[in-house]
Amino acid sequence: MSYRQIARTLKMSESAVETLLYRARLRFKEEYLASQREGELSHEEALPLLAPYLAGKLRRPQAEAVRDHIATCAKCARRIGRRRLKEQRRSATR
Ligand SMILES: [Zn+2]
Repeated sequence: MSYRQIARTLKMSESAVETLLYRARLRFKEEYLASQREGELSHEEALPLLAPYLAGKLRRPQAEAVRDHIATCAKCARRIGRRRLKEQRRSATR
């Protein structure tokens, strides 16, 4: 359907239809992003995944979920930070 047809059917101006569709798309995008977030990991779920995440052993969606969790979780961020420090020290003494 063209904007003109929609406008005629809904008895609206074409620019009003444009605005409406723009808002609908925006809303859809927001809803979609929100639904994606429902897959967020809890702290308990993320904890056992930290080591494989650091080792690069996780598949991409899971690795991204862990990364997102770390970004919002101070405990995990600290854990990861400590581990990274240890590894740096280890390689420095080698
Ligand atoms: Zn956490």
